[in-house]
Amino acid sequence: MGQNIVATGMVLNVMPIGEYDKRITLLTKERGKITAFARGARRPNSQLLAAANPFCFGEFELFEGRSSYTVVRAAIQNYFRELTGDLSATYYGFYFLEFAAYYAQENSDERELLKLLYQSLRALASSAYDNRLVRCIFELKALAVGGEGPNVFTCLSCGKKEHLHWFSVERGGTVCTDCRRESAAAEPGWTLMDESTLYTMQYVIASPVAKLYTFSVSEKVLRELTEILKSYRMRYLDHTFQSLKVLDELFTG
Ligand SMILES: [Zn+2]
Repeated sequence: MGQNIVATGMVLNVMPIGEYDKRITLLTKERGKITAFARGARRPNSQLLAAANPFCFGEFELFEGRSSYTVVRAAIQNYFRELTGDLSATYYGFYFLEFAAYYAQENSDERELLKLLYQSLRALASSAYDNRLVRCIFELKALAVGGEGPNVFTCLSCGKKEHLHWFSVERGGTVCTDCRRESAAAEPGWTLMDESTLYTMQYVIASPVAKLYTFSVSEKVLRELTEILKSYRMRYLDHTFQSLKVLDELFTG
């Protein structure tokens, strides 16, 4: 028979079900990604009215049935309401949620991804960071946490750690100047990188999530990071994010 569990997590998306109910996707510390029914969550007097919405982070008491979870009650610690006052931050936020919903696995340990999502939304809500940089950091770290990040610490051809000036999307990481010279010129997807672009990627991959949002970069570095991550994501993550279409149209041109 079923039992109640308590899970700490964030609401990634919400689907209306029937007249009054919702089905929500949660990214949790304890169970990874799960879906749960929030019965009556669309009734005006429901205790779940405010809790069963995207960005809500807190403790969810869930009834674990044989094949599904049902939300019993929720204690929300952060609604991320600051995001809704800023259109750009809202769209970036929805993209992060969609990315996490797609990328997270059910019944697996997604604690790092949850931490990353939380810190990235806080960075979006703060005016201290350029949202375009927050996006680059989020994408790169999410891929790295999932074991699919690029190799940026050695040359993928010779293994050397020096003169890593080139990024190859096809090979999935950095290549040194010597090896680039000897490689086939026809191979697609090369980017010549500023040294700061390399250091930024190394820092993001190597640092704990809590230390990620502590720096800014030049416009040139931001452009290179954006370009590299876009090609890398399209090459290795074969998925069209709906929120990204809107985001790219509205804010990145
Ligand atoms: Zn090399």
